[in-house]
Amino acid sequence: MEKITVLSLFPQMITDALSYGIVKRAKGIISINSHNLRDWGEGTYQKVDDLSVAPGPGMLLKANVVANALKDLIDDEAHVIHMSPRGTPLTSQKALELSQKKHLVIVASRYEGLDQRVIDNYIDEEISIGDYVLSGGELASLVLIDSVLRMTGDILRPDAVEDESFQKGLLEYPHYTKPLEFENKMIPEYLKSGNHKLINETRFIEQLYITWLRRPDLLRDYPLCKVETTHKNPLTKIKKQNDLLKKRLLAFEKVIQEKRDG
Ligand code: SAH
Repeated sequence: MEKITVLSLFPQMITDALSYGIVKRAKGIISINSHNLRDWGEGTYQKVDDLSVAPGPGMLLKANVVANALKDLIDDEAHVIHMSPRGTPLTSQKALELSQKKHLVIVASRYEGLDQRVIDNYIDEEISIGDYVLSGGELASLVLIDSVLRMTGDILRPDAVEDESFQKGLLEYPHYTKPLEFENKMIPEYLKSGNHKLINETRFIEQLYITWLRRPDLLRDYPLCKVETTHKNPLTKIKKQNDLLKKRLLAFEKVIQEKRDG
């Protein structure tokens, strides 16, 4: 990833939101430019929108205005995205795939969206950030940019990304910091052990458990061989030692069994 270009009616929303934290740091490595669609607007009032030709409510961004802007912004390396609730859902895998493109051009629309002919002629793919409708594509673009930047080498330490939720098909394990006791709650025993192997194995069970509880859909796609070959024996050992984990593990084994049977 070398460059991100955003086209929207509120470019300031993009620049402002990208001035914090990790993403701000990323701007030193990747060039991010936010453009105002109105600069390509028509006439004295720089008109960018018009009524939909079909009966019913709704304004659309004008096809030729968006096309003229894109002609100026696209280069040979550009991968052009339109943020849309009709798009492919954004996932960790999708963010990783996009982080490997050289230049992302992101169109954030407003009103009812874009004229279909601009989508057909200029957009490589449409991406949705979830099954709900926002009033504009700026926030959606920001979500996309943030998730893509996290996947871009040189921005986060690789080991910081490795265990994160979705990265290996599971949600992340719980985190704790000092003090060891907070409001009568101690950190879990396994973290006090200092035994890295035990910590890794227990974290893995925690991941399986939370995923099973909240996102069983992810578990359906999780390769069971990973559980069986690398972790079967250690898990059995841990199960004997710890009642809570035993309960969690039994729940998980049930899911595995059901999957095998079904
Ligand atoms: N009429 C459209 C929604 C328009 S919402 C429809 O029903 O599909 C206005 C703009 O906000 C969209 O064009 C898109 O750019 C952005 N937007 C809204 N919800 C979004 C989502 N879930 N993901 C990505 N972009 C979204």
